[in-house]
Amino acid sequence: MKIICIGRNYADHAKELNNPLPKVPVFFLKPDTALLRDGASFFIPEFSNDIHHEIELVLRISKTGKHIDEAFADRYFDQIGLGIDFTARDLQQQCKEKGLPWEIAKGFDGSAPLGKFVDKASLGNLNNLNFQLKVNGEVRQHGNSGDQIFNFNKVIAYVSQFITLKSGDLIFTGTPAGVAAVKPGDLLQGYLGSDCLLEMQVK
Ligand code: ZN
Repeated sequence: MKIICIGRNYADHAKELNNPLPKVPVFFLKPDTALLRDGASFFIPEFSNDIHHEIELVLRISKTGKHIDEAFADRYFDQIGLGIDFTARDLQQQCKEKGLPWEIAKGFDGSAPLGKFVDKASLGNLNNLNFQLKVNGEVRQHGNSGDQIFNFNKVIAYVSQFITLKSGDLIFTGTPAGVAAVKPGDLLQGYLGSDCLLEMQVK
């Protein structure tokens, strides 16, 4: 399986990092070794002093597809969950300045904690999904899927022009504003609507 992540998909987050709004989706990949499941703790790696949380809605791909038409893209995912796209912001900034790829800032071990998934059929209008991240009980990030620059179907159509999607692949669909550094002892909780789907500790 592979993990595909969309960058700069919420205008308020692109703005907080002084990034221009993209004309087409920006994406990058994380390896499967980035996954943290079942509430496993995240250990801050020694190569960064500025690991940021990015709460994101995650799509679980349910069948193989290439060149997927936007009109049929919703047939290619069956579940939605929450994940965190941990980002070594200090390393990412260095990569950006040098025009280099982001892998060391985005793809490191444990950089993709994943919560529980929900059948998309149970969620109603997928263009109106509220989600949020609490850190130590305080809301740090909140978003709505309706604020995405590229919605789920557009993302799937775009990515599948370049990369064949397969059952079990995950797509992190971008983060809203409010990203900030985590520190040892932080408790992170991700909510989809009022349901807590993700809970984990930073160490
Ligand atoms: Zn992200």
